[in-house]
Amino acid sequence: MKLLQSAEDALQLDAADPLQRFRSEFCLPATTGVKEPIYLAGHSLGLAPRAARRFILQDLDDWERMGVAGHHAALQPWIDYAEQAQHGLSLLTGAAAEDVLAMNALTTNLHLLLSSFYRPQGQRTRVMIESGAFSSDRHAIASQIAAQGFDPVDTLVELEPLPGADLIGAEQIDEAIALEGDRLALVLWPGVQYRTGQAFDCARIASAAHTAGAIAGFDHAHAIGNLPLNLMADDADFAVWCSYKYLNAGPGAVGGLFVHPRHAQRPRLAGWWGHESTTRFQMGPHFLAAAGAAGWAVSNPPIFSTAPLLASLQLFAEASIEALRQKSVALTAQLEQQIEAHSANRVMIITPADPAQRGGMLTLRFRGGSAQARRIYDALSASGVTCDWREPDLVRVTPAPLYNSFSDVWRFARRLTAALDAGG
Ligand SMILES: *Cc1c(COP(=O)(O)O)cnc(C)c1O
Repeated sequence: MKLLQSAEDALQLDAADPLQRFRSEFCLPATTGVKEPIYLAGHSLGLAPRAARRFILQDLDDWERMGVAGHHAALQPWIDYAEQAQHGLSLLTGAAAEDVLAMNALTTNLHLLLSSFYRPQGQRTRVMIESGAFSSDRHAIASQIAAQGFDPVDTLVELEPLPGADLIGAEQIDEAIALEGDRLALVLWPGVQYRTGQAFDCARIASAAHTAGAIAGFDHAHAIGNLPLNLMADDADFAVWCSYKYLNAGPGAVGGLFVHPRHAQRPRLAGWWGHESTTRFQMGPHFLAAAGAAGWAVSNPPIFSTAPLLASLQLFAEASIEALRQKSVALTAQLEQQIEAHSANRVMIITPADPAQRGGMLTLRFRGGSAQARRIYDALSASGVTCDWREPDLVRVTPAPLYNSFSDVWRFARRLTAALDAGG
């Protein structure tokens, strides 16, 4: 890809961008006193789709005007509100609509699915995750292991990168899984690692887990809406995600899950909303699971935290995740090249250079260590850049293809260079 040389070059790419119109479908936050704020934190909290307000107000209106009748009479009836997100989620996940569902939040869904899928037997008790996994995932798994009467110290296997490395190689994962063999009950792996931005070959991990006789579960918090997922082709047993990062569904939004249809008969922690829908309101004592992912629902859906998800999924469907990914690859490549060309040797990008092994995010580390990284981060913030800081020394930056432009990338690189030149 040609290195942008000027703001005009960036504007030309923006003008030729077939997805350009989607930027105006989002609310770009204003930053006081800054001329052109740049939002590059879609990996943390995606921006609000303009339509989110309309979707929420519609439900608020329906509630005010109809009360309980809104369950069936609302414009988007609340009775099957979660199901209305299934089609949009299926386009993003490579799974059939009935095998994905919006429900709860990520960690809750992980607990629910671990209760179905983590069923230690004999010596097959261990769970493998990556070392440095997102704290909540680790807490969920360690507590589930303890609840089964095992000690996480020897039952939770945390795969470390090789000494001095930040990333974990595909062969290394294969070998570690094979080594655990019949002691391994379950592998939980991220599609995209939240700190490094490394994207993994999930089909390969699922295959290695299955060869060892273990379950393959995936945390797609940083993958869904970031790159196309292929849950069925990957042969994942289950997956969970949240919707407030790349899916732009708002703070604390409803999460989601996938269960492979071969697991329809698994035991589960049940609730009335997972009961087969035509007999649910007979309120009988016997639980009859609804078909597909709907059978894992527990409670009736949170309407106001699902409404913005419906708004956002509509935009994803219009833009298509394939076209978004194509733009994302170009934006991130340009971001990488700009950083390398202008900040050379002062900034290290720990995210893989191969586009196939990363999503949209780049994670930066600074030659001058943690203190310098913090100064640079503060200088970027003061200049109107929203990105994020990760202890002890990382700055994460993500251009989101629905609302970021090549001009954003160009301007970010100028501000980064200015912060470095100012002695940051
Ligand atoms: C964002 C994120 C979470 C958040 O969990 P919630 O239950 O939605 O608060 C969990 N795991 C990973 C890997 C994440 O990136």
